[in-house]
Amino acid sequence: MSYTLPVFLAHAVALEQEAADRYLELADMMEAHRNDAVSKVFRDMTRFSQMHRDEVKARVGNIELPQLRVWEYRWSLPPEVGGEEGFDYMMEAYNALRYARENEVRGMEYYRSVAKEATDAEVQRLATEFANEEAEHVAALDKWLALTPRPSSTWQDDPDPLSPAA
Ligand code: ZN
Repeated sequence: MSYTLPVFLAHAVALEQEAADRYLELADMMEAHRNDAVSKVFRDMTRFSQMHRDEVKARVGNIELPQLRVWEYRWSLPPEVGGEEGFDYMMEAYNALRYARENEVRGMEYYRSVAKEATDAEVQRLATEFANEEAEHVAALDKWLALTPRPSSTWQDDPDPLSPAA
């Protein structure tokens, strides 16, 4: 699918706003669990997302943006998080970081696919730039994941792309 500039910009604004909202929630959650280090990571990510959103909005200028449907930009929850009781699960730093990483990867892949299929040169340029920014966010989260202890039982069967094969 090839995006027009307004459709692409609308997605970018929505994606960054969504990321900022989710990061703020994660930061508060981590703070409630007195994990100040990881809370600070999420506060930084909140700020980066807000800054990026504002940059995109500046690029939008007077261009009129289409309305999007929520499923076009909403972060996906990990399959384990089904309801209220799932939230405890999320509060562990490692899981929260992984959840954020999954969504950053999704954002990166989204921008990459837009860049690949773009017929509009400006869409292609911006999508490539945004994909690179998302790749930096993934790398930053990887760094934190490497420093964060894994919960022992629940994730042990998960393939972990971050640690070298034992
Ligand atoms: Zn990002």
